[in-house]
Amino acid sequence: MDRKYLVVGAGFAGAVYARELAEAGARVDVIDSRDHTAGNAFDYLNEDNIRVHKYGPHIFHTSNERVFKWLSQYTEWVDYKHKVLALHTDGEYYTLPVNKETSMLVGEENVADIFFKPYTKKMWGISLEELNPKILERVPVRDDYNEYYFPDDTIQKMPKDGYTVLIDNILDHENISVRLKTPFSYDMEKEYTHTFNSMPIDEYYHFIFGELPYRSIKFQTVTLPQKNVFKTATTNFTTWEGPTRVTEWKNFPNHGNNPGFTTLTYEWPCDYKTNQKERYYPVKTTDGLSSAIYNKYTEIDNKRMTFIGRCGTYQYLDMHQVINQSLAGSKKYLKEIL
Ligand code: UDP
Repeated sequence: MDRKYLVVGAGFAGAVYARELAEAGARVDVIDSRDHTAGNAFDYLNEDNIRVHKYGPHIFHTSNERVFKWLSQYTEWVDYKHKVLALHTDGEYYTLPVNKETSMLVGEENVADIFFKPYTKKMWGISLEELNPKILERVPVRDDYNEYYFPDDTIQKMPKDGYTVLIDNILDHENISVRLKTPFSYDMEKEYTHTFNSMPIDEYYHFIFGELPYRSIKFQTVTLPQKNVFKTATTNFTTWEGPTRVTEWKNFPNHGNNPGFTTLTYEWPCDYKTNQKERYYPVKTTDGLSSAIYNKYTEIDNKRMTFIGRCGTYQYLDMHQVINQSLAGSKKYLKEIL
C-alpha cells in the first residue's frame, strides 16, 4: 500500500492505530511530544527497583476477549485482581466499592457522606450532585460481599514486563517509525494521506468554541525505608482535604523486589491549568456544558483527520475501551479505503 499516515501520540490509541495500519502495509509515522512512549500508561523501574506508573495506576481489566487476544500478541501477563480499601478517619479500613459488609459497618445511610461526597469533591472540585452520574457508575454500591474493584470483568491481569514494554512491542514494526519530543505542527498534515490524532480536539482547533475542561493530578511519590505500608495496591482516603488515594507499587505483582524499601504515590487532583496543562480526566457535569462544546468541534468537517483516544474524543475511557475503539476504528478505516 503506497500510503503514509501520521499518528499523533504514542499511547494505547495511537499504538493500536499505527500497528493495524502497518499490518495492512501502510507506512506510519508516530510522533509524541513527550520523551517517552506509552502515553499516560508509561511505567518505569525507579532507583529502588520498584515499578512506578508515572501518570497513576493502570490496571488492565475487561470482559472483551477480542481486546485481550489482540494485546496478548505483544505481552505475557501476570494474574492480578484489583482490591481497594478506604482508610476512614476512624482509622479503620473498609472494602471498596462499597459492598454489603462496608454498608453494614458504617450504616447504609452514611455511605454517600463517607465514601462518595468527600472523594468526589477532591477529585473533581465540584459536588456529587453536579457530576454526571455516569462517572459514579464506575464504582457501583454492591449488595453482595464481593471484595474486588472490578467485580464483573472476566479478564483481570497486568502485563508481565509493564505497559511501556507492551506498547513498545506494539510499535515495533518495520513500517512504523516513532519520533519522540516531537509535538504536532499543522504543516505536517499535508505530507500524509490521513492523520489519526490523539491530541486534545479543542487545542487542534485553536479553542474556537471554547476550552474543554479537564482534571489533572499532581503525583507525590515517596520512598520509605520500610518493607510495606498498606494492605492493598490502592488505598482511598475518606477525608475532605488532602490526596484522594495512594498507590503502593510493590503491592502489584511483578512491580519490583525490594525487601527494605517501598515506594508510594499520593494523588492530588487539580485543574489541568494548574498542572502544566496535563489533561487526564474530561470533566462531565450534569449540565452537559463540556459535552455541548465537544459536540461543536466534532461537527467540523475534516476528512483528513480522525481524532482518537481520551483527549481526541473527550471521553473517560479505560485502557480496554481505548483499545477496543481503536481496533474498531482502524478496521473501519481500512475497510473503506481498501
Ligand atoms: N469515587 C468516589 N469514592 C471512591 C472512589 C471513587 O466517590 O472512593 C467516585 C469519584 O467521583 C471518582 C469516580 O467514582 O472520580 C470514579 O472512580 P475510579 O476509581 O473509577 O477512578 P479512576 O481510577 O479512573 O481515577
